[in-house]
Amino acid sequence: MSATNALEQYSDEWLVFEGVKTFCEGFLKGLELPPRQTISEWADENRILSSESSAEPGQWQTSRAEYQRGIMDAISDINCDEVTIVASAQVGKTEIINNAVGFFIDKDPCPMLLLQPTEDVAKSWSTDRLAPMLRDTPCLQGKVAEGKDTGNTVLHKSFPGGHITMVGANSPAGLASRPIRIVFMDEVDRYPLSAGKEGDPIKLAMKRATTFWNKKIIKCSTPTISGISKIDASFKNSDMRFYYVPCPHCGEMQRLIWAQVRWDKDDAGNGMPETAAYVCEHCGTLWNDVERWHAIGQGEWRASKPFHGHAGFALWEGYSPWVKLEEIVKAFLDAKDDPEALKTFVNTSLGEVWEDKGERIEEDKLVARREAYETAPVEVVVITAGVDVQEDRLEVDRFGWTAKNQSFGLGKVVLYGDPAAPRVWDELDDLLQTPIKHDLVGEMTISACCVDSGYLTQQVGNFCKERWNRRVWAIKGMPGEGRPIFKKAPGKLRKTNLEFFLVGTDTVKDVIYSRLKIDDPDAPGYCHFNMSYDENHFVQLTAEEAKTSYSKGRKIRFYALRPGRKRNEALDIFGYSLAALEGLKISGLDLRRRWEKMLAKQEYAEKIREAVEANPEVNVEDIPKPKILQKRQRRRVVARFA
Ligand SMILES: [Zn+2]
Repeated sequence: MSATNALEQYSDEWLVFEGVKTFCEGFLKGLELPPRQTISEWADENRILSSESSAEPGQWQTSRAEYQRGIMDAISDINCDEVTIVASAQVGKTEIINNAVGFFIDKDPCPMLLLQPTEDVAKSWSTDRLAPMLRDTPCLQGKVAEGKDTGNTVLHKSFPGGHITMVGANSPAGLASRPIRIVFMDEVDRYPLSAGKEGDPIKLAMKRATTFWNKKIIKCSTPTISGISKIDASFKNSDMRFYYVPCPHCGEMQRLIWAQVRWDKDDAGNGMPETAAYVCEHCGTLWNDVERWHAIGQGEWRASKPFHGHAGFALWEGYSPWVKLEEIVKAFLDAKDDPEALKTFVNTSLGEVWEDKGERIEEDKLVARREAYETAPVEVVVITAGVDVQEDRLEVDRFGWTAKNQSFGLGKVVLYGDPAAPRVWDELDDLLQTPIKHDLVGEMTISACCVDSGYLTQQVGNFCKERWNRRVWAIKGMPGEGRPIFKKAPGKLRKTNLEFFLVGTDTVKDVIYSRLKIDDPDAPGYCHFNMSYDENHFVQLTAEEAKTSYSKGRKIRFYALRPGRKRNEALDIFGYSLAALEGLKISGLDLRRRWEKMLAKQEYAEKIREAVEANPEVNVEDIPKPKILQKRQRRRVVARFA
């Protein structure tokens, strides 16, 4: 080979090399890693908050709630494939998700899935949250085609390079199709245990992302009960980040915690929310709201465990720039005496799981605290009943309810006889129409009654159908977490024209058991029983306990009989009475207002009596009626002439 040839050959190789280089560069460009811009940078540059979905419409500013920066940037961080946000209400969680969705549509398009507890919630998220952002944020305008021919629907939108599908966790179909790179799961603690028959919606959704090396799972929720809460479990698997802020006085960094919130009490011992302040745990100086918000602007996230690709963030209302401490304290003071309200406060304001003490209620304690009343006490404003149908008898219990949600057991009645025959039903009818003696108003009738239709469905259905206008309701108990006590719309019994209401029995038992634990007879929710209830009644009432077990790898909570206990009718009937009260509330009953009216009526009658005593000739029309009674009078007159 000559030198020239060698040179030519070398040149050829060089050219080939150049070609490969160009090709490689192009190839690498195609593989280019996602943009280096973070979600917070993108949002500060581009995001416009829409007037219909934001109290502060206009240009987005991450610094408005500084803690949002760390969360959003974890979502765009290439090293982070899972993000968990356990948060109270009012910390801006929804906008964090919105910004992330907008960022991916604009800068890193790919297939995305957004899961909500139900399809209805998914639809309203699409129309109320996503649509305004797509419309008002300039860089997103026109990316998602609109109109009938585009193939886009409320729950599915495609854009250049990707698409977003919004799904209800109750819909197995939506969870079973194409692979997804980014999965957003909102309010995971409100998901059903199973999407149809397909199993855990969280697992189904995560499965869809397995094929992507750069997949991302974002979960967020307000937590629920300790040991059951899915978001709490997920947070504990993360690096558990908390937000630390510097004290405006001593500069020491600290987490904001509820225990450091202080307020004064008045002379009567009632809390004064307007005096609420935050106490620095290092120097003890009180911070006002402005100082607290300033401190939050200077804060930072600190992990409490090593990072292995899963970032976790915890937030509560104390961090929110939109909530004053006074409002949080007021919510606490309103809730503190009522276990159910307190649970809601702990979950939605503090963003913490509720520790369900789960201890059994001992019947001896309940037996010992029976009281000697025989008539409905003064403060009872409404009476309801519950009926359980057994093979050889009907068991009926009646409860009076007060404005403070206290209950007064008014005596159980057992009607023996074959419920397949009409006689016991006639007796029940009489009993339900028998007025009960009342210490304030003389007599009170039963306002509503729930009859369990689980056994002898047809008989129960027929009996209730004829008495529906007297609010004698057929019901069907339905266990399961998170079901409403009384479902507003009635269902139809199969193959009949008979209507019934669904009653969430586990929710009912949660309420009853949390109330039976209240020891202070003046506290809201306290349950009173008179001497007519025997010991066996309390053995039945305390027969069940909340248990947790695993089903398909997931923890579930349910009620079961305690060892050695066989019967639980007393608990069931109490529950049906509570459900009847709930049915009345849904139909518009306001216990407190009715109580105020009862008092006003009594006061008015007293005034008239005194006036007549002083002057038998007095014209009673001249005595002014209390306002609360006047309105009703006017409405009645209108109705009469209409
Ligand atoms: Zn300090």
